[in-house]
Amino acid sequence: KIDGKDNYKHYIPEMNEDSHNIYFLEKDMRLALEKEEFYLEYQPKIDVKTKKVIGCEALIRWTHPKRGIVSPAQFIPIAEESDLICDIGNWVIKKVCKQLKKWHLEGINTVPVSINISAQHLLKTSLLDTIFTALKANHVSPSLLELEITETSLIQPNQSVFSTIRSLKKLGVKLSLDDFGVGYSSLTHIRKFPLDTLKIDKSFISKVPTEKDDAVIISSIIEMAHGLGLTILAEGVETEEQLLFLEEKNCDHIQGFLFSKPISNDHFKQALISGELI
Ligand code: C2E
Ligand code: CA
Ligand code: CA
Ligand code: CA
Repeated sequence: KIDGKDNYKHYIPEMNEDSHNIYFLEKDMRLALEKEEFYLEYQPKIDVKTKKVIGCEALIRWTHPKRGIVSPAQFIPIAEESDLICDIGNWVIKKVCKQLKKWHLEGINTVPVSINISAQHLLKTSLLDTIFTALKANHVSPSLLELEITETSLIQPNQSVFSTIRSLKKLGVKLSLDDFGVGYSSLTHIRKFPLDTLKIDKSFISKVPTEKDDAVIISSIIEMAHGLGLTILAEGVETEEQLLFLEEKNCDHIQGFLFSKPISNDHFKQALISGELI
């Protein structure tokens, strides 16, 4: 690793603080994968009508040995600059499948878990095999796994993205479109994909019911999604007012701090057993 050290000495003087941070975070993320410094939290998804937990989203967490907790909003974009995001994604897939197996063996009535898949990862032809292998190795039903993808993945899809998505669908894995409303939100390209769920971005939810425009946009998104046979989930629900509004507009599922923050696997297990949050 002498070369690495030389590079480091050579580059440091030209680096500003940001690129310096990026350089170290990337290096540390590779180590973090080896040393198991990453872990997952699970945020419950709630059915608006029954108020029952119907699923959850796995969210990655990192306790850095020196920096302490580093937010995914900080390190995921850096990981997305390289192949590292695929290594992280593969780690998450395996971890979630192992967790689902564990809950099953413990006699827990499990719910589907969603995983965030970055655009670069979806481009990998190996993704399908990784998912298939992880499900099989842990005897997990594909219907217990959901992939959350963003529109970036679908804007200029190549043949392999289409074929990966089709194969995943055939296998029984669920597919949801994350952060809906902030990107292109083009209905035409959405129609080409076998989606199950649209997740309305939290930036819309945070402004209802006060902002009239956002309220109108949300109602039409819900109506449109239902017209297309899609389930609709609102993310970032923090207040009773927002919940009431979404109930009135027939939103199917919600996720947000009003019901629960992302919680540890043990805490989520307790919620599944007792049927109660917090
Ligand atoms: P996202 O996929 O949109 O995830 C939802 C984010 O909103 C999470 O932030 C969650 O903690 C937060 N959130 C949930 N409910 C509320 C609420 O009521 N109010 C507010 N203000 N926020 C809420 P988190 O965990 O910090 O993750 C940030 C982003 O990092 C995620 O956004 C996702 O894009 C990315 N990310 C997280 N975990 C993974 C992962 O395992 N793989 C990949 N590729 N990306 C991930
Ligand atoms: Ca997500
Ligand atoms: Ca989101
Ligand atoms: Ca996001």
